[in-house]
Amino acid sequence: MTGRLNTRAPTTGSGLDMDQSGAFCIVCASPPPLTTERLCEVCFRKRNHLSDLPERIQQTRCPTCLKIQIEGRFSRVSEEDLMQQRIIEALRVHPEAQNIEMDLHAESIDERTTRLNLELRGSIQGFIFESLHETLLQTSNGVCLPCTRKAGAYFEATMQLRSAGRRLDEKEIAELRASLDTMLEEIGDEPMFFITNEGPVKGGWDMQVGSKAMARMWAKKLVSAHGGRIKETSSVVGHKDGVDITRLTVLYRKPAYTLGDVIGFSGRMWRVDTWTKDGPILKALDNLERTGTTWRSLEKCTVLSRMQEHYTVEILRRDGSAFDFMDPNDYTMRTIGNPYDLEDEASSVRICLIDGEWQSLPRVRADGVD
Ligand SMILES: [Zn+2]
Ligand SMILES: [Zn+2]
Repeated sequence: MTGRLNTRAPTTGSGLDMDQSGAFCIVCASPPPLTTERLCEVCFRKRNHLSDLPERIQQTRCPTCLKIQIEGRFSRVSEEDLMQQRIIEALRVHPEAQNIEMDLHAESIDERTTRLNLELRGSIQGFIFESLHETLLQTSNGVCLPCTRKAGAYFEATMQLRSAGRRLDEKEIAELRASLDTMLEEIGDEPMFFITNEGPVKGGWDMQVGSKAMARMWAKKLVSAHGGRIKETSSVVGHKDGVDITRLTVLYRKPAYTLGDVIGFSGRMWRVDTWTKDGPILKALDNLERTGTTWRSLEKCTVLSRMQEHYTVEILRRDGSAFDFMDPNDYTMRTIGNPYDLEDEASSVRICLIDGEWQSLPRVRADGVD
């Protein structure tokens, strides 16, 4: 590999000062040309060299995650960047050196040892200097903090996934859980974002995770994707250096309903239209009415028909108040009232069964219509 360490402008000419009539080298008494310190080139070269590199360079690698310690932090770097980094840390270059070019060759000797050959070229006071170095990069084991903690079943937070008023079904748990994998992938290298333990519990799923930030970040994502509420509780589990060590429990309660579902609330029927940070916006089934609610108050609602239980049926005949359609269950002809937002050119209507009766539904955003 080749790299330039120094991008300063090239010097013009050599460091020799030509206008030195009568002067001589202060070491060997040679006549000019002399450097600014009154040295002839031979004496100048004897007293200056381009670079120093120790014969051995040590580095630490975590045997578990294979990350390398760089500037106090364990990280993952490419082999090429790592070698370059190690050389730059260990190399001492003459302070006046300019236009340095570096050629680095790495040869792996065994698992823990790499031989590095470095060729440097640069100028000092206009004289071109070259140096050759050979050094051994030796790797020793040192377990990084996250791996130490993982091995010790360490966790900072418990994440509880639940539903309001019912059990989470397996499909829901799988979907919620998958969103954590997606989040971790998006975040990339965040050492304390790990899962210590997880498994099913009555009504939902529990997880122990490496960091409080991880639990909080995920809970926020769950709320924005599925609505619902987060409840945080902190408990003191010990003391260290006079400071309480706390563990966080984050309870996420996923609503029993989702966007588009038909729910019973306050003695009326509604569809869940959309939601805000504070709670869902509902659209009444019987007339053009929208109302905002809170997550908390809606925990008492009943889900009457979920989105996936709805049907879209063709309008066979209609007048100003009702329409005919074929019952998707028994293929008989039925007539029910028009939804209040039925447009003149509409050819189909969304319907659902509530207590054995077909009910036409006004449209909400989840249907794909504004
Ligand atoms: Zn001399
Ligand atoms: Zn590690």
